[in-house]
Formats: sequence, C-alpha cells, structure tokens
Amino acid sequence: MTQLQRAIADRTGESPRTIRRLGFGIHTDVNISPEPDDPRLVVDCPFCGRAVPYPGRAGDGSPILAECVNPRCDVYFDFVAADVYLQHS
Ligand SMILES: [Zn+2]
Repeated sequence: MTQLQRAIADRTGESPRTIRRLGFGIHTDVNISPEPDDPRLVVDCPFCGRAVPYPGRAGDGSPILAECVNPRCDVYFDFVAADVYLQHS
C-alpha cells in the first residue's frame, strides 16, 4: 500500500484493496500533447522575423500586404508566395 493508494482510497471512499486491485499509480510514460496540431499559413516579417498570418490574396489574385502586429514594427509589408509556409503551433 503506497501513500498514493492510501490517498486515493481516502478520496474515493473505495477500500484500499479495490484501489490496489485497480492499480492506481502515477503515469510517467504518458505523452501529453497540449493541443492538436493546428498548422497555419504564415509569412515572416522582414523587419523583426516574427511569423505573421498569411493574409491571403485579393479577388484579382494579387497578393495582399501582410501585417506585422509587433508594436516595434506595426507595418504592412509585401512578400512573395515563396515566403509563405506552414507553421505548426
Ligand atoms: Zn515585424
């Protein structure tokens, strides 16, 4: 009977035997990924290097200026399609 099992028995009201049988323990091998992978299209700001959201294209297919919201930049900038890439959050 470990301290953890005793604590769980206290908390759940189950008998220590049940807790031991169920085999509660601390998992050390669980790989917890906080968020599902959510890739997004971004383009790097040429001034600060920060990845900013890809703004898409205008109705006529011409690129729209990307916007860097970094307070130090706060600019719109031109970019080429080759600069756009997928960023995994
Ligand atoms: Zn910037």
